[in-house]
Amino acid sequence: MSQSEPSIFTRIIDREIPADIVFEDDLFIAFTDIAPKAPIHIVLVPKTSEYADVVQLASGDPELLAQMIARASTIAHQVSDGQFRLVFNTGAGAGQTIFHVHGHIMSGEMTEGSLGR
Ligand code: AMP
Repeated sequence: MSQSEPSIFTRIIDREIPADIVFEDDLFIAFTDIAPKAPIHIVLVPKTSEYADVVQLASGDPELLAQMIARASTIAHQVSDGQFRLVFNTGAGAGQTIFHVHGHIMSGEMTEGSLGR
């Protein structure tokens, strides 16, 4: 990704912007989405800003992507019943607004109009 400006997510990682952090380890941070689209909506972000989207991550560091999915499961068990959707918006036309790879962990009963319904 462009190195000119740190992403909002890098600023959350660096504690420059507050967030409701639900999980953090050496590789990832996860926090409540500021505009939730599901009863439980967590954003899971690798700390590296090297990859703009999940396609770049998958080709550049597939092991980190596998770890990301494992973390999503851990977090879904922590905040809900362990069942979840993991959504990667990829490209502006698909709704991606922040070009620092992240997954949307969505859990809880989905309502009409939420993603995928
Ligand atoms: P995307 O549209 O896939 O790039 O996802 C970006 C997500 O980040 C959106 O769902 C936003 O609501 C969320 N978001 C943006 N800024 C913040 C913030 N400061 N704290 C928590 N979530 C945020």
